[in-house]
Amino acid sequence: HVYLNFWLAIICILVLLQAQKELLDYNGIGVSVLEMSHRSSDFNKIINKTESLLRELLNIPDNYKVLFLQGGGSGQFSAVPLNLIGLKEDRCADYIVTGTWSAKAAKEAEKYGKVRVVHPKMDSYTKIPEPSSWTLNPSASYVYYCCNETVHGVEYHFTPETNGVVLVSDMSSNFLSRPVDVSKFGLIFAGAQKNVGCAGVTVVIVREDLLGHALKECPIVLDYKVQVEMNSLYNTPPCFSIYIMNLVLEWIKNNGGSVAMEKLNKQKSSIIYDVINASNGFYVCPVDTACRSRMNVPFRVGKKDGDDTLEKKFLDGASKLGMISLKGHRSVGGMRASLYNAVTLEDTEALADYMREFLKEHQ
Ligand code: PLP
Repeated sequence: HVYLNFWLAIICILVLLQAQKELLDYNGIGVSVLEMSHRSSDFNKIINKTESLLRELLNIPDNYKVLFLQGGGSGQFSAVPLNLIGLKEDRCADYIVTGTWSAKAAKEAEKYGKVRVVHPKMDSYTKIPEPSSWTLNPSASYVYYCCNETVHGVEYHFTPETNGVVLVSDMSSNFLSRPVDVSKFGLIFAGAQKNVGCAGVTVVIVREDLLGHALKECPIVLDYKVQVEMNSLYNTPPCFSIYIMNLVLEWIKNNGGSVAMEKLNKQKSSIIYDVINASNGFYVCPVDTACRSRMNVPFRVGKKDGDDTLEKKFLDGASKLGMISLKGHRSVGGMRASLYNAVTLEDTEALADYMREFLKEHQ
């Protein structure tokens, strides 16, 4: 899945051509970004340009800092509590757990303070508990949620209301797939490898008044204040991944920005959900209609819990047509169509055609 994300990102032809041209000789300076010093003025220009593109594409207000860090989304599961749980004396944090990734984040945060899940535990991750039923703690240091649960295909199409408590969101798998009002958040983080580049770099967007509250145990590389003061260069950053992100952000900008990405992603996901809805139960998506993800469409083939033989046949047939990585995450089984920014409308139509053909043959 992750490898597919990586390759999907670089099939953005401009990105590929640009990276290829510059692979051995960046900007005519005789070295590649792969070997360039992260303290060089050339790399400085790259990281600054990446930041300003991101600021432009997401309309990031001036009182927010942007960081490019290592450690992935999982690193942020630790960095968030290490930096923010000490914002208030009680060291409490509220978590909304709607899938694997928010569950993992909540478990990690328990190491650093009191973590409360604000709704009854769910038997399956197929919906977002009704916001009016959340028991939010006004003394919590922050409220955390995962905006798109990549494994389960549950996506928030609204921003949670927290009555003034700092809101933190993991946007690893829907970052820049749509516009976002950054001013509603205390912190947003996202690994680059789904929608904005390749593995290795994680973006953190943090409101500046939240800096400087890290627990004393916080590893220095995860300390947002230190990294802000050093322009993400406290230690060697993932230079090449930042450079690739720069190219992908240019591609997004040249293709209409976050508004255009949203339009396209709505269109693409509707194409697949329409096939599922019209299949009379042959394809089954377990997720509530209101929170179905535009990025990851999970579905079973043949019946509600999937027919093993048909699912294998479906994957084999897809693979023969060059459609790979459609197998769902091992923890949920079935299929998962990931429709990140780099997947085209034509790619999506090809999958929908195949699904309709398969249905005709096997229903
Ligand atoms: N959060 C979400 C929503 C993810 O989809 C993933 C990985 O797929 C992660 C966090 C973990 O990211 P990483 O593997 O970069 O640590």
